[in-house]
Amino acid sequence: MSTYYLQNRPERETLIGPKVPNPERGESHVRKSSDRFSAKAACHGSLIKLACLLSVLVLLLTTACAKKNDNPSIKLDQVGYPIDAPKMAVVSAPAETFVVKRASDNATVFQGNLSARATDANSGDTVEAADFSGLQQPGTYYLEVPGQGRSWTFSIAPDVFSRAYYLAMRAFYGQRCGTAVDLGPEFPGYTHAACHLEGKFHSSSGKQGRRDNVGGWHDAGDYGRYMVNSGIATGTILWAWEMFGPKLRGIKLNIPESGNGTPDILNEARWNLEWMLKMQDDDGGAWHKQTSERFCHFVMPEDDHLPSEVIGTGKPPYKSTCATADLAAVSAIAARVYQPFDKSFAAKNLGAAQAAWAWALRYPDATFVKNPPGISTGEYGDTDCGDEQMWAAAELWRTTGEAQYHRYFLDHYAKYLPTLRALDTENWRVVAPMGLWAYGLAARPDADSHALAEVRNAALAAAHEVVERTRRNPYHVSLVAEDFHWGSNGLAGNYGMELLVANALSPDRTFVETALDNLHYLLGRNTFSISWVTQVGANPYRHPHHRPSGAGKNREPWPGLLSGGPNAARQDAVLRALPPHLPPAKVYRDEQASYASNEICINWQAMLVFLLAGVME
Ligand SMILES: [Zn+2]
Repeated sequence: MSTYYLQNRPERETLIGPKVPNPERGESHVRKSSDRFSAKAACHGSLIKLACLLSVLVLLLTTACAKKNDNPSIKLDQVGYPIDAPKMAVVSAPAETFVVKRASDNATVFQGNLSARATDANSGDTVEAADFSGLQQPGTYYLEVPGQGRSWTFSIAPDVFSRAYYLAMRAFYGQRCGTAVDLGPEFPGYTHAACHLEGKFHSSSGKQGRRDNVGGWHDAGDYGRYMVNSGIATGTILWAWEMFGPKLRGIKLNIPESGNGTPDILNEARWNLEWMLKMQDDDGGAWHKQTSERFCHFVMPEDDHLPSEVIGTGKPPYKSTCATADLAAVSAIAARVYQPFDKSFAAKNLGAAQAAWAWALRYPDATFVKNPPGISTGEYGDTDCGDEQMWAAAELWRTTGEAQYHRYFLDHYAKYLPTLRALDTENWRVVAPMGLWAYGLAARPDADSHALAEVRNAALAAAHEVVERTRRNPYHVSLVAEDFHWGSNGLAGNYGMELLVANALSPDRTFVETALDNLHYLLGRNTFSISWVTQVGANPYRHPHHRPSGAGKNREPWPGLLSGGPNAARQDAVLRALPPHLPPAKVYRDEQASYASNEICINWQAMLVFLLAGVME
């Protein structure tokens, strides 16, 4: 029996197969009821009747206790809160007071009144806020609302997010293509053999024959590798290093390169960078993607035997401007970031960036908009690559200081200033904010003071607006109703990045606190009271649209992976089957088949890593 969920993002071909139960990993509700059924069926043997009666009793008690002790109407960050940060939980049941109790001995350590009730436009929930910012004693706690029950446990600690960061960044290792992966004794059974070792040119690439291009990260729940999404994902990770390096330098990810003298975040990013460099042709251009012709079934990566093909635009010059300019931007960052650790790799990146830059200047309109005939994998289509070129110019100038890149930036940046907005900020298709922020963060003496002021003012104005909006939101999340489209959780991360970049431009405690609010949303302070990072928090989601999680034999999904999140556009059958008038923040199901709300993806994952790195102490 094989599942045949074909994953999809907004621009992707929609090919949805029938829902077939996965024998390896049932849904949680199914699992619970079948456990009960098994207990009942076994009770026909007279000798074990008493034992069975007891086990059923225990099961019922456990269920009752779970209901009483873990009330999903009390929503908070299931990982926790830094010691001196604001601490807020949301209660969606009518109540007036709350207490915080220490998990070890149930002692009350804090009590308070809930705020007045407010209705959240995104979810339709009517909620009160429980503010326990005054609790600054490190420890493990739960929040109790008289008459309602208790929350999941959470921690208050100086390094409260270090484990979440470790798992989220290490999740990229799990996405590695072209090599065997093993999460080790910490996660026994989370392994896959080397995959996609053979490749060839698709006819749309303008070439033929073998082209292995082994390496890179599987993009999402599928096994494709896509240059434009690799661009923003890898760029974001490298920026996390540049901005928060002192916090990340010593964090060992337990990957094969650990201990080689290079910080592990850079070791992991290099795995994808090396593949991106292989996607560059001799003339400097980069092909758009490397995937099979269609999505494979829900199998482990080594069991995907569809040929891996380098795919181009189908007509001269075959490579695409967006892919090439993204490569120029990312390898320009890599040229400065790897300089202290591997000079020759840094130089290689600089050469690649300069060649890619020249190619994109020569072919500014070689867009990849639709898949060539016979290909149905993700498109990542984009009709305008001017923003990618502007980002590349900013990064190349930031790295080299050369006038040609600076001139290009100054000639083009103004039209992109409106992308530094408080709504729907940067994403894989709109990388203009990355280019503008790069200019703002560069701290070069030759910067143009007028351009710099415009970039800073626009970035700070947007951040202040996001702060105000988030304060007014009863869940303290920056998302508005229109934001609940494909990858809304990634967008919460994008807002976090926007705020943390603003904080780097002009330090402001409220920027960091609002970024933290978006992290709290992702880790449990949301309408579902669910942590959207696998194996993180007391009540994480469990059924990502992610082939290694669905096809493997492990009971839990691969750890550290961010779900795409609620999506009111409902591009899959699971979401379409939900009640028609659900508020946007509620259009989500923790089901593997819901690729439109529960897939994972490296660009969203990178935003989570950036956010965690930024708020870690
Ligand atoms: Zn692979």
